Amino acid sequence: NEHDSENIAGMLVRCGYTKADCKETADFILFNTCCVREHAELRTFGNVGFVKELKQKNPRLILGVCGCMMQQKQVAKKLFDRFPFVDMVFGTHELKNFPLLLEQVFNNRRILRVDDSAGEVIEGLPAEREPGFSTFVNIMYGCDNFCTYCIVPYVRGRERSRSPENIIAEVRQVVNDGYIEVTLLGQNVNSYNYDGVHFPELLKRVNDEVRGLKRLRFMTSHPKDLSDELIDAMASLDKVCKHIHLPVQSGSDRMLEKMNRKYTVAGYLERIEKIREIVPEAAITTDIIAGFCSETEEDHRATLELMQKVRFDSAFMFQYSQRPGTKAARHFPDDVPPEVKTRRLNEIIELQSAISLERNRECVGQTYEVLIEGTSKRDSGSLFGRTSSNKVCVFPALGHRPGEYVKINVESCTSATLLGNIVE
Ligand code: SAH
Ligand code: SF4
Repeated sequence: NEHDSENIAGMLVRCGYTKADCKETADFILFNTCCVREHAELRTFGNVGFVKELKQKNPRLILGVCGCMMQQKQVAKKLFDRFPFVDMVFGTHELKNFPLLLEQVFNNRRILRVDDSAGEVIEGLPAEREPGFSTFVNIMYGCDNFCTYCIVPYVRGRERSRSPENIIAEVRQVVNDGYIEVTLLGQNVNSYNYDGVHFPELLKRVNDEVRGLKRLRFMTSHPKDLSDELIDAMASLDKVCKHIHLPVQSGSDRMLEKMNRKYTVAGYLERIEKIREIVPEAAITTDIIAGFCSETEEDHRATLELMQKVRFDSAFMFQYSQRPGTKAARHFPDDVPPEVKTRRLNEIIELQSAISLERNRECVGQTYEVLIEGTSKRDSGSLFGRTSSNKVCVFPALGHRPGEYVKINVESCTSATLLGNIVE
């Protein structure tokens, strides 16, 4: 979704717009929404309602709402009907038509456009990227996995891979523009397939063919498709960072089956062992859902046990929330009481932060190469950056600048950050 925003900003710049300092001085405001987790709908309706008065002050102001929440037809329609001052509402598959939609708005038409079909991959959209040294490049769109809790396949459509040539051209372009770290993005990068070119081969080509690129990351790997070739690629390719995000979701086989994840706890642990054998220094991070349909205390404890076995470096942790139209919403009652979900999530978060702290303590005394990304928010005399394993590191600037690589000796840590000093 964030990269969609960058594409829309790119198209707006081509239409002659420049970035406003704040919403009060803007002539165009577009809300890009997400529906993957949480009940963000209320908040979106609130935020949109809130800008009505800006429209009254500035009649030239154009208001729009887009993103995957608007790809749900009934939600888009409800918003369009409720807020007559909103000029354009469109779904995720409409991005390519954005300039045309905008033209129609200029011709005094209100637009509601939600197309069911994702169609082919669209190439060549401009992008106004967030300034910095690290950016994202999509290698595929959509998802075919249909995990029973997940709305992504419904709002992003079927899996489509971009050609290696187009991906490499875009990586070259962003490197030309000054970025030195690129994260290749897909819902399941391990199922990337373009005319028989699979992900490890793509990774090798980007690694070898883009001069000036310093670091290469990728996200997300689905455990069911994590191949030995990918693990070998991570070990052998010089620019590929030693970090793998491998969402496990649950530590209970019964839950994994019900989620349609297509692996077992034993299978997952076998993949973890393989990663640790081939790339021992790799950080492993994950996603966990607490309180999925019919989850018992025993299932929950199995998740805590798995976390203790794997000792993830960090994790994104969520409470299950029912998403309309998914198999879980249609067939499984959302029967774990909210207070139980919250309690289980808190237990998961607490355990993970203890493990993250232990993991970070293991880094104290070690030296890591860090790409400086910016000035520390808390202390203007300090900089922050990331290690290859994606850990955030904060250290005194000593005349160094964002965009440089430095070696940092880690001297202390919290569960979220490594603290140290530049050694060279
Ligand atoms: N394609 C990635 C994940 C994309 S969504 C994968 O399969 O790993 C990112 C994360 O959001 C998921 O890993 C899951 O943990 C969480 N998530 C998705 N749907 C959810 C829901 N209905 N409730 C709670 N968390 C959810
Ligand atoms: Fe959703 Fe599963 Fe696809 Fe990830 S793999 S996007 S969780 S359906």
